[in-house]
Amino acid sequence: MVNLQGKTALVTGSTSGIGLGIAHTLAEAGANIVLNGFGDVESALATIQTTGAQVAHHAADMRKPDEIEAMIAMARERFGGVDILVNNAGIQHVAPVEEFPAQKWDDILAINLTSSFHTTRHVLPAMRAKNWGRIVNIASVHGLVASTGKAAYVAAKHGLVGLTKVTALETAATGVTCNAICPGFVLTPLVAAQIDTIATRDGISSDAAQARLLSDKQPSGQFVTPEQLGNLVLMLCSPFGDQVRGAAWAMDGGWTAQ
Ligand code: NAD
Repeated sequence: MVNLQGKTALVTGSTSGIGLGIAHTLAEAGANIVLNGFGDVESALATIQTTGAQVAHHAADMRKPDEIEAMIAMARERFGGVDILVNNAGIQHVAPVEEFPAQKWDDILAINLTSSFHTTRHVLPAMRAKNWGRIVNIASVHGLVASTGKAAYVAAKHGLVGLTKVTALETAATGVTCNAICPGFVLTPLVAAQIDTIATRDGISSDAAQARLLSDKQPSGQFVTPEQLGNLVLMLCSPFGDQVRGAAWAMDGGWTAQ
C-alpha cells in the first residue's frame, strides 16, 4: 500500500470523470485533496469525503492565469502546499481544421496545455525546496498519435508531452518527478458526447456507437477506467516511481501499439 498521509494533491478538472477518479484513489491513500472544476461540486466533495480525507475545492477557470495562481495560494494556505500536482483539466471539440472555431482552438490550448505550464511554475519552487514532488500530466494517446477532427486537442496533448519532458529534465537530479499518462478511451462525459455524435450520425444505438468507437481505435475493445488511471498515478507517487522521469506512459488497450 502506498501511504500519502501528510501529502496534498491538487487535481485540476476533478469534479467528474478521470480527475475525480484519480482524486479518489489519492484520497484513499491518505492525501489531502484540492478539487477543481465546474458542475456538481457538492457530489464530487462528497465522493472524496467518503474516504475520510481532508478536501477543498477551488473553482479556478483553467483559461485564467490569475485564477490558477489564486488556487495554488489557497492550497498553500489550507494545506501548506502542493506535493502532488495532477494536471488533468481538459475539453474536446471535433471539427476539420478549416472549420475549427478559432475560439475553441484558444480554449483547448489554454485548458489542455497552457494551464499546466502555470500550475507547474507555481508549485515547483516549493517542491524543489522540499526535494520531493510529483507532477503527473494527463495527456492522451493523442499526445502520441493523431486522429482526424481533433487538431486543437492533438496539438495541445503533443505540447503537454513536450512540457512533461522538459520539466522532467530540469528536475532530473532532484526528488521531483514529472511524467505524462496517455489514456485511450475512458467512458466519461467527454467521450459520451462523441458516442452521441456517432449514434446520431450513423443512426445506431448508443451501445452500437460505443462498440464502433472502440473498434476503430482500441484493440482491447474495452474502456480504460478512472480507477486504473488513479492506480497508475499512485504508483508514480510511490518510491517505485522515483526513476520514472519524462515518460509518456500509455494506458490505452493497445491503441498506440498498432
Ligand atoms: P470530463 O469532461 O469528465 O471532465 C473534465 C473536467 O475538467 C471536469 O471536472 C470539468 O469541470 C473540468 N473543466 C472543464 N473546463 C474547465 C476549465 N475551464 N477550468 C477548470 N476545469 C475545467 O473529462 P475526462 O474525460 O475525465 O477528461 C479528463 C482529462 O483526461 C482531459 O485532459 C482529457 O483530455 C483526458 N483524456 C480523456 C480521455 C477519455 O477518453 N475520456 C482519454 C484521454 C485523455
